[in-house]
Amino acid sequence: MHSLANFESLMGKPNLYAHGCNGFERPKEECGVFGIFGQPDAAAITALGLHALQHRGQEAAGIVSFDGSQFQAERRLGLVGDNFNKRNIIERLAGESAVGHVRYSTSGDTIMRNVQPLFAEHSRGGFAICHNGNLTNANTLRKELVKDGAIFQSTSDTEVLLHLLARSKKRAFIERFTEAVLQIEGAFALTCLTNKKLVGVRDPLGIRPLLLGRLGESWVLASETCAFDIVGAEFVREIENGEIVVITKSGIKSYHPFKKHPQRPCIFEYIYFARPDSIVSGKSVYEVRKNMGEQLAIEAPAEADVIIPIPDSGVPAAIGYAQKSGVPFELGIIRNHYVGRTFIEPEQQIRQLGVKLKHSANRSMVEGKSVVLIDDSIVRGTTSVKLVSMMYEAGARQVHMRISSPPITHPDFYGIDTPDQNKLLAANYDIEGMRKFMGADSLAFISVDGIYRAMGHEGRNNQHPQYTDHCFTGDYPTPLTDKNHEEEPHPSLLSEVL
Ligand code: AMP
Repeated sequence: MHSLANFESLMGKPNLYAHGCNGFERPKEECGVFGIFGQPDAAAITALGLHALQHRGQEAAGIVSFDGSQFQAERRLGLVGDNFNKRNIIERLAGESAVGHVRYSTSGDTIMRNVQPLFAEHSRGGFAICHNGNLTNANTLRKELVKDGAIFQSTSDTEVLLHLLARSKKRAFIERFTEAVLQIEGAFALTCLTNKKLVGVRDPLGIRPLLLGRLGESWVLASETCAFDIVGAEFVREIENGEIVVITKSGIKSYHPFKKHPQRPCIFEYIYFARPDSIVSGKSVYEVRKNMGEQLAIEAPAEADVIIPIPDSGVPAAIGYAQKSGVPFELGIIRNHYVGRTFIEPEQQIRQLGVKLKHSANRSMVEGKSVVLIDDSIVRGTTSVKLVSMMYEAGARQVHMRISSPPITHPDFYGIDTPDQNKLLAANYDIEGMRKFMGADSLAFISVDGIYRAMGHEGRNNQHPQYTDHCFTGDYPTPLTDKNHEEEPHPSLLSEVL
């Protein structure tokens, strides 16, 4: 464990480990994907779907459509609503099939050539790809491909798939595609478009979500049900873990090329990432978050006058906590909705400022009271430190912090943006150390078994865990091939090294 002084200096300094010894940030992407086949105005519907998925990525968005003879592409940095509302942009994206992507990445990788859908002209025609998740062997594969003469256009992990597909000698599309996806590791939910097909794929464990819907006669793919709701599509089913669906004019075909595994979706979709009105793996995200709050009230009650959520992410859990404990729920913190998610700003200094811009105390609900603050998670601790002191400044008598997920001790490699381990508060302090760090009167987290209980299980099945939960347990469900070669130069620097 670091001392407080040591930790604070680590929080402030550029993190050499995060950028690797060669200065490159590991690709970390939070994304949403969409696809539609056989629908006039495919691009306009895709733009709407992406708008509903905006919470999954706010830095960039893109759409590729196929108009029967040509592919059209529009990619923009910024929000979907700011960029894809103009009639002329949508009109340029003619056709009855389209795929789209919203993206958030860390600094350094926010460049136009990384904005998806990525597109390549292959020997058999154009191919567009949208990826949610993160490949854990992309750098290793990329290095081999570069040695073999491949020329990469982006620094995105997703591009390796374009090259693997281009190199396959198999004849049928599904054989070439299968050969390519069998070589990748990690988390991937993909929507891909060719001149004849819309393709959806989910990784063998189903870490990231992908769903199938129906809009009239056409098929739709999306990361979350909220994207179906906005376009009026009907939810049909989840794409299974390890399943490839190929949608053509003659219908939909399903393939299962991967070795069979039990599904292990990412637990963080329930905790933070997915929208509360979405249904993930058959469970309402809102209900699960409320259950987490109830479970937290059972495990960590507090003597208090009022339960206050940290908006927006802590609201459902705070409702559950208040209902279970019988303590009144009040909006003691007001959120400014014109500021994006705290994490959007890549620099720690700006991120801290972002927390101030985003939240303010509602003094009348706080003054003279013992308050319980509820949030869904603690990552670096920026939010909790700021809001605990904001509560005292607003006159709180006592501040009890309650968190509806267990301590995050391990970084993510599957498409959720978490910093490297030395910036995770819970990897540096025990609970008492964290409590002192944020200056709260008490601090408690839900237990690992408790979170499984909130999702309707008896607890975590340690032999066959029901979810991907490495952030709390360190149990990574796939090989971390690139991480194990971290000391080697990033493949995009290879030309300088060779
Ligand atoms: P921190 O302030 O660094 O402790 O981050 C915790 C806050 O960020 C909580 O309010 C969470 O709701 C939110 N959060 C947790 N995980 C993420 C993530 N991957 N991306 C953006 N925000 C997150």
